[in-house]
Amino acid sequence: MTEPDPTLRPEAQPEDVDRALRPQTLGDFIGQAEARANLRVFIESAKRRGEAMDHALFHGPPGLGKTTLAQIMARELGVNFRMTSGPVLAKAGDIAAILTNLEDRDVLFIDEIHRLNPAVEEVLYPAMEDFELDLVIGEGPAARTVRIELQPFTLVGATTRLGLLTTPLRDRFGIPTRLQFYTVEELHTIVTKNAVKLGAPADDDGALEIARRARGTPRIAGRLLRRVVDFAVVEGDGTITREIADMALTRLGVDNLGLDGADRRYLTLMAEHYQGGPVGIETLAAALSESRDALEEVIEPFLLQQGLIQRTPRGRMLGQKAWTHLGLAAPKAPGQGMLFED
Ligand code: ADP
Repeated sequence: MTEPDPTLRPEAQPEDVDRALRPQTLGDFIGQAEARANLRVFIESAKRRGEAMDHALFHGPPGLGKTTLAQIMARELGVNFRMTSGPVLAKAGDIAAILTNLEDRDVLFIDEIHRLNPAVEEVLYPAMEDFELDLVIGEGPAARTVRIELQPFTLVGATTRLGLLTTPLRDRFGIPTRLQFYTVEELHTIVTKNAVKLGAPADDDGALEIARRARGTPRIAGRLLRRVVDFAVVEGDGTITREIADMALTRLGVDNLGLDGADRRYLTLMAEHYQGGPVGIETLAAALSESRDALEEVIEPFLLQQGLIQRTPRGRMLGQKAWTHLGLAAPKAPGQGMLFED
């Protein structure tokens, strides 16, 4: 079995040194119009009132701009940006150290906030609500609690799995924001701008071809663009045309819907071994040797959004579009495909 190509996955990779491509202001940020319009109001209001902005929670699949938006918020608010992530904060003391070092109105970004240790989460509640920290000093009968006042700050949490957040934590965010997959037009604009920044301008059709195959995700668009730039420089004249983009992306195994080997394996397995489903997620995970989390967080959101699969109470099912895409005929069993739909 071939490993999924990491270039095509939306999770951050160490080689994503893309500072140059990250939008720096809300004005530069393409897409997510609704989230952007709301944030603009909240930022402006916080600035005029001279207060810390309310805590914000960004959720949605990886690579859609949660970290980028948090950085932009800090910049627009004119405050420091501090960044950490759920799994890194092992004990209460870790988060206490970060919180006590925050300056007035700073933005603290916690990535993968659904993976916080419960002891860390306990510390966050009073910190978010009253900007106070209850620290236990000493042990046993001599232990006592001291209350420390914190500077007002804005917590920005990011998660790919809203459902895994505890209710008390979720309730403490005043501004929950869902990020959506980008439209092809939005990605087209992003790719065109970034191609110029990378020194290999793309013509309209070239940029469009990359945008179409980027799974609605700017991080993937950025990665595909870099690879296409390599081909344009070495095998073309340094500009990105539709032919160069198509050739490079096909060689990378990205098909015309933007699906990669891992997506196609998922769809083919359902078609060939389970007649299009319904199949339980655990069965799919075992058959594909992927974790259930990876399927649910990374592979499925885009397939669902594209109507290639459906989620039903009995398990996953292939949509008609997937059969067509795979070039296979859907089974003709009476009622198949209709029986278990939501
Ligand atoms: P997330 O935190 O949701 O995983 P990031 O904020 O790290 O995603 O963004 C992933 C990549 O996509 C970054 O390289 C960023 O520059 C780029 N990106 C995200 N949103 C946009 C956008 N709206 N316009 C241009 N580039 C974007």
